[in-house]
Amino acid sequence: MDQVIVLGAGAAGLAVARQLKARGVDCVVLERGPGVATSWRGRYDRLHLHTIRSLSGLPGFPIPRRYGRWVGRDDLVRYLETYAERFGIDVRTGTPVERVKPGADGWTLQIGGGTELSTRTLIVATGYLHTPVVPQWPGQEKWTGTLLHSADYRNPEPFRGKDVLVVGPGNSGSEIATDLAEGGASAVRLAIRTPPHIVRRETAGWPAQMNGLLLGRLPEPALNTLSAAMARLEMPDLRRYGIARPSEGLKTRLRTHRYVPVQDVGIVRDVVAGRVRPVAAVEGFTEDSVRLADGSTLRPDVVIAATGYGTGLRELFDDPSLFDETGVPLVHGGAPARPGLFFVGYDVTLGGMLRQVAIESRRVARAYRG
Ligand SMILES: Cc1cc2nc3c(=O)[nH]c(=O)nc-3n(C[C@H](O)[C@H](O)[C@H](O)COP(=O)(O)OP(=O)(O)OC[C@H]3O[C@@H](n4cnc5c(N)ncnc54)[C@H](O)[C@@H]3O)c2cc1C
Repeated sequence: MDQVIVLGAGAAGLAVARQLKARGVDCVVLERGPGVATSWRGRYDRLHLHTIRSLSGLPGFPIPRRYGRWVGRDDLVRYLETYAERFGIDVRTGTPVERVKPGADGWTLQIGGGTELSTRTLIVATGYLHTPVVPQWPGQEKWTGTLLHSADYRNPEPFRGKDVLVVGPGNSGSEIATDLAEGGASAVRLAIRTPPHIVRRETAGWPAQMNGLLLGRLPEPALNTLSAAMARLEMPDLRRYGIARPSEGLKTRLRTHRYVPVQDVGIVRDVVAGRVRPVAAVEGFTEDSVRLADGSTLRPDVVIAATGYGTGLRELFDDPSLFDETGVPLVHGGAPARPGLFFVGYDVTLGGMLRQVAIESRRVARAYRG
């Protein structure tokens, strides 16, 4: 009961565990996967952080300089493994928590296999991007082609010579489209419902993340205007290629949809060169075709839904009043949501999520000690 339980050995869970340990608090991390950083191990091969190394490290141990400015997926996994070892964090892998219920004096956790554990203090760090979400399109069940979520995409090899439709122009969808175009897919289209905000990953060595950090504090109308002006200056006009300008300002979209802009790691070049063709949003499926919002149809071999994630927290907890309609905890990031219950890693900011989880881990440890 007195041991603090942290749920999830990703960046957030490890950072909190380290902060608690540094304050002499006994804690254990339960992880469903076979090792720490399970989410990152499963991400696509070409993935590098969009946030810079120096602003992506966790408390007490920065990401080593040798991993470069834009840290690759495998190096981030290595860093998180080293982080857990360095601070002697007690991680129990292969321990999926299936249900959390309020107990007599804290929280009771049901673990896969039928075990139960109780604790007075539970810290949930199971990831904001937890459960892949694929929309239920009409006719989808009839579709005979391949449909996968971006979470299951690794590299372009299986799609060589294939006609692929990527749905959703977010960071994952845009980078996967570029990867496919470079990797030999016969045609790559990108279905767009809401035009993306696209920013350069860096300009003359100045990273977009720093803009997010510094300018993110501006009032909403000011940042909306400024980011639209910057996009006009630094990006080619993509309207003639089928990508309209966003109608909603960047900071408004961050507030209303927890949206972060797309960092250009090749998509603008590929759209201009015609290697990735923007098309209208997907409306539905037939046996062998995909119907788009502009009335046209496509016959791709493969559809990759880069359509986002849910938190999966409503499935974990009995109490729906803990969450908003999107499944994000109403109270998170430092203050307890209930006595002895904290959520870490659910705040989407323009400064980067890894930086944010580092900040939140300090707050949670302070709140616990307080
Ligand atoms: C493609 C992609 C690129 C990204 N790039 C960046 C970037 O450049 N910079 C940045 O700051 N952020 C980036 N992010 C966001 C990234 O998710 C976070 O930075 C970071 O991984 C969040 O860490 P976390 O610990 O909150 O979640 P996760 O890394 O998802 O860790 C959660 C852990 O909890 C475990 N878990 C989940 N449910 C259970 C359960 N029921 N029982 C036990 N264990 C459980 C999981 O297996 C996992 O190990 C990116 C995300 C994606 C998808």
